[in-house]
Amino acid sequence: MAPTPSSANPHRPRIAIIGAGIIGLSIGFELAVRRGVPVTLYDTGAPGRGASWAAAGMIAPAFEAAGEAGAHPRLFDLCLESAALWPGFAAELEAASGLASGYAAAPALAAAMDGREAARLEAIAQTLAARGVAHRMLDGAGLRRAEPALSPQVLSGLELETDTRVDNRRTVAALIRALEACPLASFRAGPAPLKSAGRTVVLEGHDAVIAAAGWQTAVIKVEEAGGLYSLVNWDTALDDIDCYGGQMLSVAPGDGTPGRVVRSGDVYLVPRGGQVVIGATVEPFIVPDGADEAATEALRQAAIALCPGLEAAPVTERWAGVRPGTPDHAPFLGETAAPGLFVAAGHYRNGILLAPITARIMADLVTGRDAGALAATFSPRRAYTATA
Ligand SMILES: Cc1cc2nc3c(=O)[nH]c(=O)nc-3n(C[C@H](O)[C@H](O)[C@H](O)COP(=O)(O)OP(=O)(O)OC[C@H]3O[C@@H](n4cnc5c(N)ncnc54)[C@H](O)[C@@H]3O)c2cc1C
Repeated sequence: MAPTPSSANPHRPRIAIIGAGIIGLSIGFELAVRRGVPVTLYDTGAPGRGASWAAAGMIAPAFEAAGEAGAHPRLFDLCLESAALWPGFAAELEAASGLASGYAAAPALAAAMDGREAARLEAIAQTLAARGVAHRMLDGAGLRRAEPALSPQVLSGLELETDTRVDNRRTVAALIRALEACPLASFRAGPAPLKSAGRTVVLEGHDAVIAAAGWQTAVIKVEEAGGLYSLVNWDTALDDIDCYGGQMLSVAPGDGTPGRVVRSGDVYLVPRGGQVVIGATVEPFIVPDGADEAATEALRQAAIALCPGLEAAPVTERWAGVRPGTPDHAPFLGETAAPGLFVAAGHYRNGILLAPITARIMADLVTGRDAGALAATFSPRRAYTATA
């Protein structure tokens, strides 16, 4: 059996992290930079260039999780806790890396252009009111005062204090820099040489392994008797991590482009890095082969309906990425059925938002600390108890 944190040094094990997206990088940051625990990060691609690069960078607990049908019943709580951690996480990251984290504490707006969306926003407002989460209902005129780029057609909306934004590309760059500067962290290009050890998998020189390879987590390879087998053979629950393609584009800012995050229905606009990001498609069980002109043009048209000034804004980039999703749209956080093998994957539309809390929970778990009751509900061995 693999040496587990409890059988080795309980508070200073050496941890292997498979996958250096925002999830693996944030866990590495928490362990090595904040807690002094040595880590090795493996990535078969370029660190930080997966879904974490493709994302829009919204930190949106209220809009994404307050009223999401079919979601894990505690997802909203997890998202709220992580959103609250973001300012401190960003400050520590900036101090450790010397780079900007990209975090901006600017409340987002959600706008309704028709009665159906207005009803949906009212339902979100009710959930927020019941939980005592700050928000402000606005009529069309109030919305346009808050964001003059909005169409005169907007009917009503919400200002969401909990929902902010971050330039996620800057965040991953800062995480990489902070880890490169940390003597307790090291990066390895390519696959981790994981080996089968009966019911579990081991990695020489490490006390625990965290699988954090986004949508590809289940197919991380393990050597057994000279052959290579997928990690899912050691815990079938990992098979529930699926791919959800997403396409987006960005445009240059100008007169009539929004200065704050604005969402309506399935379209959102995010000012980021001197551009305005427009997202996003959600394509279940698809790995897009790059961005598609028709799909991104449809997004652009929906964005123009929301903010007419975008019509004149030149397109600067189109791209695609793949979200890792689970059946209840919440991440797997915890030890798998294989002792010493942990998983942190399946963050779906909220991986940027959930990075700080994921890092805390996983660092607690692999060092043998109690991560708390909320964390336990996100175990990969949970039964699905969706809210709808
Ligand atoms: C279009 C789009 C918009 C989004 N917008 C938002 C948003 O606004 N807010 C938000 O919170 N979330 C958003 N998300 C979701 C968010 O991007 C993801 O949940 C998050 O990035 C997942 O991070 P990750 O580290 O698990 O995966 P990734 O960033 O994909 O990282 C996984 C890493 O693992 C590596 N890897 C793969 N296989 C192996 C292997 N066998 N061995 C070693 N390494 C391996 C990959 O190379 C990659 O670097 C969006 C996603 C998309 C696609």
